[in-house]
Amino acid sequence: MTVGRHIEISGVVQGVGFRPFVHRLATGLDLRGRVHNSTSGVEIEVAGGAASVGEFVARLSSDGPRAARIDHLCSTPAEPTAIIGEHFTIDRSSDSGVPALVPPDIATCAECLAELFDPANRRHRHPFITCAGCGPRFTIMTALPYDRARTTMSDFEMCARCHSEYTSPDDRRHHAQPIACLDCGPVLRAERDGRAEARGDAALHQAVDTLAAGGIVAVKGIGGFHLACDARHRDAVSELRRRKGRPDKPFAVMVRDQQAAESIASLDEAELDELCSSARPIVLVEARAGNGVCDEVAPGNPLLGLVIAYAPIHHLLLDAGPEVLVMTSANIGGEPIIHRDDQGSTARLADLADVMLTHDRPIHVPCDDSVVRVIAGQTYPIRRARGYAPLPISAAGSGAVLAVGGELKNTFCVARDGRYWLSQHIGDMANVASLEAFSSGVAQFCEMYDIEPEVVVSDRHRSYMTSRWAHRQAGDVVTAQHHHAHVASVMAEHGLDPRAKVLGFAFDGAGAGDDGSVWGGEVLLADAGSSHRVAHLSPIRVPGGDLVAEQPRLAALAHLRAAGLPWSAALAPVASVGEAGLDLFDRQLRDRRNSVMTSSMGRLFDAVASLLDRRQVNSFEAHAAMDLEIAATRSEPTIGHRFAIDGVSFDAAPVIRAVVDDLAAGTCPDIVARRFHEGVVDLVVELVHRLAPHHAVSAVVLSGGVFQNALLLRRCMAELSGGPVPVLTNRTVPANDGGLALGQAFIAANRRLAVSVSSEETV
Ligand code: ZN
Ligand code: ZN
Ligand code: FE
Repeated sequence: MTVGRHIEISGVVQGVGFRPFVHRLATGLDLRGRVHNSTSGVEIEVAGGAASVGEFVARLSSDGPRAARIDHLCSTPAEPTAIIGEHFTIDRSSDSGVPALVPPDIATCAECLAELFDPANRRHRHPFITCAGCGPRFTIMTALPYDRARTTMSDFEMCARCHSEYTSPDDRRHHAQPIACLDCGPVLRAERDGRAEARGDAALHQAVDTLAAGGIVAVKGIGGFHLACDARHRDAVSELRRRKGRPDKPFAVMVRDQQAAESIASLDEAELDELCSSARPIVLVEARAGNGVCDEVAPGNPLLGLVIAYAPIHHLLLDAGPEVLVMTSANIGGEPIIHRDDQGSTARLADLADVMLTHDRPIHVPCDDSVVRVIAGQTYPIRRARGYAPLPISAAGSGAVLAVGGELKNTFCVARDGRYWLSQHIGDMANVASLEAFSSGVAQFCEMYDIEPEVVVSDRHRSYMTSRWAHRQAGDVVTAQHHHAHVASVMAEHGLDPRAKVLGFAFDGAGAGDDGSVWGGEVLLADAGSSHRVAHLSPIRVPGGDLVAEQPRLAALAHLRAAGLPWSAALAPVASVGEAGLDLFDRQLRDRRNSVMTSSMGRLFDAVASLLDRRQVNSFEAHAAMDLEIAATRSEPTIGHRFAIDGVSFDAAPVIRAVVDDLAAGTCPDIVARRFHEGVVDLVVELVHRLAPHHAVSAVVLSGGVFQNALLLRRCMAELSGGPVPVLTNRTVPANDGGLALGQAFIAANRRLAVSVSSEETV
């Protein structure tokens, strides 16, 4: 019996080789019909034998390309006689005018990799091998829809053989926009001191030789340049740290495949899934002892940022060069990744690297590597960029909105009618290069998605560069409170009703509060439109400006003072600051000059890290808190130090006193660190039990950078899960300020709702 079906699929099904897959599947089953792109995905009409059509529909979900993600599949009966044609075709006629999806960049697939190392294949050692299911996408697109002419491959004319692959529906490279070969594609080039020295395979050999000799190579990858060196070569890694001006912050390392990854790190199944996924993020994993990676890669840190090669150029380097490469973004400080080949970039790279391995395929959009961490089998994003951006997030909301994000780890977000596009990680905004990357990124996203923002939303902190930028724009500017935005980011990514009340724990380093003080240990009763502070850490006085975040010992002194404890010389922060510093600091706190009140949970973690002498001065953000987490993780579970909960505030003074008593009693710092963590877990649990039933909330939400502490998050989830209300946290965007823009956009896109709700209530 002949039957017909009309199938609509939404999700990530454009630019990932989905239509060629559908074509192959249908042709193989001897079905006729057509497939074409639609506004939300693809549409398929298919006709043939009932059994074959049934199998076709089933295999659409199970056999698709690995980078594809089906969110919804709707299959309805269709009159087979209405489906014209004798074969199955890929219909491109209806593509025009369709605001297609922008696919993220996809790691080189297994088939392309096999060809890359097959001497008989015509793309043997071709550093730009791709197919319809893999290769660069977002980073080479100049406009929509995704088509060869609107990529940075437009200047490369396909040779006859590539063209025939590109146009034949049976080929793996049918409509593979970055298709190329050794005859017609981009060419590698090695430069030293700005002078080209070798091309093609010879350029690659020069890079490999430099790495093998302990040198540093700048490698142009998918989203920008990396600085690479042998991760087992102590002098090379130290030299790289010196040139980058980065004393301690861990470097990521790259290996060629899963087997190599397992040889240097102990990995569970979920970590392996992430490492091998088509997004190919850096995964923070536990390093294996004796793996040969030198300590300088991640000083004092048991975790290793590990990534498996995701571009052909990486595979070629790792095939001949060192087995483990440091792969760190080529940039300085919090600046965006260098991605161009212009004179300025080349000159800066020449200062950082001995040899530059580059090529003539331009990168249009700079995009760093993404970073994730797996905690109790679940993946949590730390930096969302290559491989994920710019996939949209669907949540309630209306109108066209631009959210500018925060100051550190900036991302921005554009939204229209329930779709939220969060940008890739841009960087820290305190430099001109980041602000430029931000402005051009905003312009590009607005153009790509055809969005003219009706409202721009920023943080309430007026001196954030992004807030200033927002106020220079035409049109309405609204502000969203920092911690409300953190909580709203979780609501948005979990698709909560914007009117649903949640109990939100927003624990971070610093954010502008509603009362003029600096917040960071907040419990909010919130929906998308409003938030109300129902509990918070008792504020303490700290020096104003960035100094206290950079020097955990100052946070410790401030907490000692607030707890009424003397600055005794036996305490690590007191000894570290020294007498002159103590005098100055004492006067600052007494006179209340250049100081602010803060309820920051991040500063409390800093204070305890300093008291336990884990770290007195940070060389990167959250350095001390990370060291404290590492110490606590070494300890067996134990009983927590208790906060004093008094009405709407919870006081850390008893915790600080208990920590000082533990130190005086000679308790192992790892145990004290664990007691502190357990105390914070107990605090969260107790507040949930007190507040959630009282306010009839629909969910408990945990967000803010402090919840990137794996021990804290794992223990909170374990204690709270299975309770009467669900506990939600960030899984799609980072819990740190990298996810702030999504929350801001969700607040702004639902603000009208808030107004209408409150006016209804007054009626
Ligand atoms: Zn491929
Ligand atoms: Zn070619
Ligand atoms: Fe924050």
